[in-house]
Amino acid sequence: MPSPVAHTLGGYIIYRFASSSNTTSWKKLLLCCVSSNLPDVDFLPGFLLGKPNYFHHGISHSVGFSVAFALLMGFVFYLKGGSFLRNSLLFFSLYFSHILLDLLSYDSSFPYGLAALWPFTSDYYISPLSLFLDIQRDSASATFITSMFSIHNLMAVLLELALFTPLIVLSVLLTRVRKKEG
Ligand SMILES: [Zn+2]
Repeated sequence: MPSPVAHTLGGYIIYRFASSSNTTSWKKLLLCCVSSNLPDVDFLPGFLLGKPNYFHHGISHSVGFSVAFALLMGFVFYLKGGSFLRNSLLFFSLYFSHILLDLLSYDSSFPYGLAALWPFTSDYYISPLSLFLDIQRDSASATFITSMFSIHNLMAVLLELALFTPLIVLSVLLTRVRKKEG
């Protein structure tokens, strides 16, 4: 799996490309970045049981959960006067971007890959091509967080920053063009 840095940048880029406004809504930007990290909440139940990886990369990392989350958020924004379709598409993109980035990452821990096509199948999938390094971590709750501060993981984050830089530059330029037009 890539680090939360990659998922947050994914959320930022999707927000920038999806936004039709030339001003930044910091509240919505924050919501986008949280949404693009949301599937990794599946660490929490396992963390409480002492095995953080136990539920990781299961059905929370699937097209089924992406659609359910998108419909829920579309409905929430519809109740607030927003467009159901537009917001559903936005939040599907945010959630599913997480699945795509995880699929494109090297996975060194069992079960390899993720249940990406649930509910159609519970099989686990991983891309044969890895763009991102794996974020290595201990399997015990006590050392889970501290184990993530390693040279390998620092290199993984630097690689993510390098890969995302062109897209970030493009999204910032797009915002500037919109500001000029606005
Ligand atoms: Zn994940």
